[in-house]
Amino acid sequence: MLDLLIIGAGPAGLSAAEAAQQHGLDYLVIEKGTIANTIRQYPVGRSMFSTPNEVEMHEGTLKPVREKPTREEMLSHYIHFVLDLDLRINTDEEVVAVDGNINEGFVIKTDRSEYTAARVLFAIGAMEIPRHLNVPGEDLPKVHHLFVDPYAYVRKDALVVGGGNSAAEAALFLSEEGARTTMAIWREDWENRDPKAGAMKHWVRTPLEAEIKAGRLRVILYKHVDEISEREVKLTTEGGEVLTLPNDVVFVLVGSDADLTLLKQLGVKMDSGKLAEVPVYDPETFETNVRGIYVAGHFTHARHIKAAIDVPRRIVPLIAKELK
Ligand SMILES: Cc1cc2nc3c(=O)[nH]c(=O)nc-3n(C[C@H](O)[C@H](O)[C@H](O)COP(=O)(O)OP(=O)(O)OC[C@H]3O[C@@H](n4cnc5c(N)ncnc54)[C@H](O)[C@@H]3O)c2cc1C
Repeated sequence: MLDLLIIGAGPAGLSAAEAAQQHGLDYLVIEKGTIANTIRQYPVGRSMFSTPNEVEMHEGTLKPVREKPTREEMLSHYIHFVLDLDLRINTDEEVVAVDGNINEGFVIKTDRSEYTAARVLFAIGAMEIPRHLNVPGEDLPKVHHLFVDPYAYVRKDALVVGGGNSAAEAALFLSEEGARTTMAIWREDWENRDPKAGAMKHWVRTPLEAEIKAGRLRVILYKHVDEISEREVKLTTEGGEVLTLPNDVVFVLVGSDADLTLLKQLGVKMDSGKLAEVPVYDPETFETNVRGIYVAGHFTHARHIKAAIDVPRRIVPLIAKELK
């Protein structure tokens, strides 16, 4: 039986793996994608909002060319962290069920195998379930809920729906790289200037406004998307006008949620957070109401990468102490 099974190899899972190794625990990380899978899904070349000290695994080890690291520099940093420490991670393996209890141990089923562990740490992030508009045509292959690069859409009609930084960045990148881009955004998001309330960062808004001024990017303050078809999108503006836009590709970037199914099946209680459900856990130990089941990272209240790295360093030593 393993001491600790960690689900997810994002910053939280990697930090937990290192702490487990340092404390001599018999641990394993199971990751359904690749190391730092969420970061791999950022747009290519994207600069982080955070400075190196907020995202690096050890002080002074991430040395970006510019002030803030790019997606590629982040990926390389996390991958070399795993290689240098020789952390135990199974990639391309998905946890599909967790059962059991603290007395007899937990049984973790994956799409490849089955493990038993004394403790389980969920570090599953909050990217599993992209939010949908739930409109006709959203299941067409031209509709994406993730934006990675703009190069397939040069001289094509692209629509980006959403009001946060990811949507704004995608619209900017598409427009700069020659897609005829329209951004559909709600007025409250467009006028939001409060960084704490998720307002567009100024280094995204300024070039975005320059694209609009140059006539390359169109912003529509919309009420709802009515329908997506092969060659068009029909939407209703905030004034009630129905517009039919020529369209080749749609990016629906309205956020995503964690998949909390496995936690719920174990009996972990949920709180209704500001935007999404958050598991109930002890703020000191990050243990949930189900003894032996722990949470860390983006789907808890400690959301940013810095906290995702810091929290496992606090809680894994507590787990090790308890197991000894
Ligand atoms: C476009 C974008 C830009 C961002 N920019 C910043 C920024 O500048 N600064 C910042 O601090 N934060 C930023 N974030 C947020 C940041 O990515 C998260 O805070 C960070 O990834 C959280 O780390 P984590 O380890 O909690 O989760 P994740 O990095 O999401 O890792 C969770 C991992 O768990 C895996 N997983 C999930 N379910 C299973 C399962 N059942 N079985 C096996 N594996 C599973 C996933 O594949 C994933 O690799 C950004 C997010 C996005 C989308």
